[in-house]
Amino acid sequence: MDALENLVNNACKIFKPPERIKVSEWADKYRYMSSEETSRPGPWRTSIVPYLAKIMDCLNDDDIEKVIFLKPTQIGGTEAGINIVGYIIDQQPSRILYVLPDEDTMRDFSSQRLQKVLRTNECFKDKYREDSKDLMLSFHGGFCKFGNASSATKLASWSVPVIILDEIDKYPKQASKEASPLKLAEERTKNWPGKRKMFFWSTPTLKTGNIWQLWENADMRFEFQVPCPFCGHYQALEWNQVRFNVDEDVTAIQYNTHYECCSCGGHITDQYKPEMLEKGRWVALNEINGKPKSVAFKLNSLYSPWVTFGQMAAEFIRSKDDQLLLMNFVNSWLGEPWESKSAVMEADLLLQHKTDVPMGIVPDWAQLLTGGVDVQMGYFYWKIDAWGPGVTCQTIAYGRALTLDEIEKIMDTWYPDKNGKPKLQVWVYGIDTGYRTEEIYDYCERHPRVAIPVKGSSTPMVQRARPSNIERKDKLNKVPLQLWIINTDTYKNEIAMRMEIPMGKGSWMLNADCDREFAEQITSEHRVIQTKGGRAVETWEKKTSAKQNHWWDCSVYSFAVADLVHMRQLQEDEPQAQEQAEEFDDMALPEPGFSL
Ligand SMILES: [Zn+2]
Repeated sequence: MDALENLVNNACKIFKPPERIKVSEWADKYRYMSSEETSRPGPWRTSIVPYLAKIMDCLNDDDIEKVIFLKPTQIGGTEAGINIVGYIIDQQPSRILYVLPDEDTMRDFSSQRLQKVLRTNECFKDKYREDSKDLMLSFHGGFCKFGNASSATKLASWSVPVIILDEIDKYPKQASKEASPLKLAEERTKNWPGKRKMFFWSTPTLKTGNIWQLWENADMRFEFQVPCPFCGHYQALEWNQVRFNVDEDVTAIQYNTHYECCSCGGHITDQYKPEMLEKGRWVALNEINGKPKSVAFKLNSLYSPWVTFGQMAAEFIRSKDDQLLLMNFVNSWLGEPWESKSAVMEADLLLQHKTDVPMGIVPDWAQLLTGGVDVQMGYFYWKIDAWGPGVTCQTIAYGRALTLDEIEKIMDTWYPDKNGKPKLQVWVYGIDTGYRTEEIYDYCERHPRVAIPVKGSSTPMVQRARPSNIERKDKLNKVPLQLWIINTDTYKNEIAMRMEIPMGKGSWMLNADCDREFAEQITSEHRVIQTKGGRAVETWEKKTSAKQNHWWDCSVYSFAVADLVHMRQLQEDEPQAQEQAEEFDDMALPEPGFSL
């Protein structure tokens, strides 16, 4: 073959007009699963996972811009992404941005999955450049760039018509709405109107999570329905139709589980599943006028060709008694957002934790007062807690103040007992330094050992609190100012736990006059369990972004500074403790280096 012929042949390969086929048809025709990829090598067959066809083929529908997919485990979701990238390389070369939660996930997916497909499938020969970098796969007419959601700002320079955002509920929390996955995708594709495609995929986490929000706001939502082998009734596979005996052991359950048709009650076993799937179809859950721009698809692992009804039931049995495992089952296997029972605090329940002591009065059992101040741009939220033996706590007062002078007065006040006799003054109070930082440092330096600068930790920490020396510019004080970094999640967990303790010793209580607005703020957050680096991590998040949580933050600061003065060591039967407080060495602030 001479050089010219060679050139012409190559040119024909490269400039061969695209076939008029859809992604699913392309995969059936060209994709081969090599032994590098799977233990069962052979041609790709969409008929095994027919629900993926419509999702992948959205790429070929010019009207659709956003494709939302709530993907559970074991249904082949990752393959859909591989097929879309493969199709683009082979049929309509263009730029792709593939965003994943972090660096490790990106490298794994690129080198362990996608590159293997591109190297072993004939159709990519002469198109895909095998010397591509892991995070930048090059091919004729385009590229597939991998993006790290952990540093989303670095993606700002990339303009692409196709963006795939995978596992969007695992993306790190962003400080501003500007950096949300949705905004990111819209920005990156805005130069390609009428051509752009945004794929948002994830296992759901919470109703407030990215993927559930997108699902709820999609123009059209679809569920996959399959026919009953006995009566032919089309239905979505639902967990509550799976029949098994909870009292059997896990092994028995794997064999004795079946699916009950919601129409005829038919006893559907796993052997019927492949045929049901093949006859399955996506059914719209809502109607709209005109063509949808965003479409959303939801599945659960009952549809998986690789998971039996019995394995699903066994997974449930193994998970049901452990919050974290159960949450994983709901998210990853049922493809549903998690609504925790015990990790949700409700304002109404909290309002039942009111004592009969009015606002501003120190309860009889109290030996110590501490405060917390949350700083906002224009005002301060403050709160004062009374503490007694056994970590007993009651909010005795709270409010809003406009100036630090007001805060000073509030914290200097002697609060009376029920007879009106002055009983206790705030011993220490924590002030948030997140906003107006220099101003707060100045204030704390003017009130040494009473006003304690605090800040919630932005990274996980083991201790309850740790000190950090602050170097001031003017160095007015010889002793450096000590800022306390607080493990807010730990304190929030403890407060939530103490709210469940019946009123009395060890309980976290409200005074008789606490109102609903206060209770709403205290219960504005709920506990979320996430896995980070294979480890379960609990964090507190706002239930909805609109909720105010200032007095909740005040409660954390107040609790943390109470710990700094050894509140946990308060003993019963020391009625004079408060009068002696001035000489009470144990109540002094800890020395530098002390940690909890
Ligand atoms: Zn039936």
